[in-house]
Amino acid sequence: MEKVILGKTGIKVSPLCFGVLPMGPLQKNLPIPVGKKLIRQSLEQGINFFDTAESYQTYPYLKEALAGFSGETVLSSKSTATTYEKMERAVYEGLTALGRSYFDIFHLHAARVTTTVFEDRAGALKCLKDLKKKGVIRAVGVATHSVDVVALAAEREDIDVVFPLINKMGLGIIGGTRDEMVQAITKAHTAGKGVMAMKALAGGHLIGELKEAFDFVRNISGVNAIAVGMVDARELEINLKLFNHEEITREYLTKVKTGKKLLVSVFCKGCGACINACPNGALSLNKGKAKVNHELCLLCGYCNPVCPEFALRVI
Ligand code: SF4
Ligand code: SF4
Repeated sequence: MEKVILGKTGIKVSPLCFGVLPMGPLQKNLPIPVGKKLIRQSLEQGINFFDTAESYQTYPYLKEALAGFSGETVLSSKSTATTYEKMERAVYEGLTALGRSYFDIFHLHAARVTTTVFEDRAGALKCLKDLKKKGVIRAVGVATHSVDVVALAAEREDIDVVFPLINKMGLGIIGGTRDEMVQAITKAHTAGKGVMAMKALAGGHLIGELKEAFDFVRNISGVNAIAVGMVDARELEINLKLFNHEEITREYLTKVKTGKKLLVSVFCKGCGACINACPNGALSLNKGKAKVNHELCLLCGYCNPVCPEFALRVI
């Protein structure tokens, strides 16, 4: 797989970044050896870029998969830590869990925050800057769903990489439209930031139009890489083909949809909005969380746009 440089960081990555969240205990909960094998397969086929987070509990998969691999790998992680001390702990505990001496990119994990994030978490950001000076991390990033945060990051010297949510449906974007997020991304790129995009498939809801969904994000000026969650060899194979610009048949696309299910993530706040949106009676509330009846769910995707927490995923 070709490699690209993330903005001005000098970090060389595959445009397909392996998102490790969905294989972990918060979602699919694959056994460690199964997840390890999939990551290892991806490494052998040219993916060198992996994204995770302190909260995803997926470091053991990466540690196992990267052990003994001699090629270059790039690790991106993040933490919701607010203070200097908590961020320092998040980084060093992450390195210990991974058996590594540095992170390539470490983000403020700031998905749904407001534009005061850089002031509210000044201590955590200062910690990342200090760790960069010490060589413990190579680049400081911000992972966010907010248009304004991406635009603000573009203007800051201390942010090297932005990690925005963007997809062709505009699903999950905070504080603006899809096109406004595209403008903010382009602004960040023009300012020399590396751009790795997330949620190009809108939490799995664009799985039926995979190529179009990836093409939309890849064609945005300045997007260097896209983080894509993968949980099995079929997904890996088809995503590799798409990112390597190989032809894919309809049969391949059908295979990717097989065995997928709608999942309610830990971010569900139990507001109930999705229940009214489901025409098939597949959703109910149980102990303050949405619950899916998989016998009735047709994966039509009508529930997804109404969820204010971006909590419904197809995996
Ligand atoms: S994907 Fe469709 S059928 Fe399934 S729960 Fe959502 S709205 Fe209902
Ligand atoms: S709309 Fe989202 S937050 Fe509300 S109950 Fe459904 S899944 Fe949970």
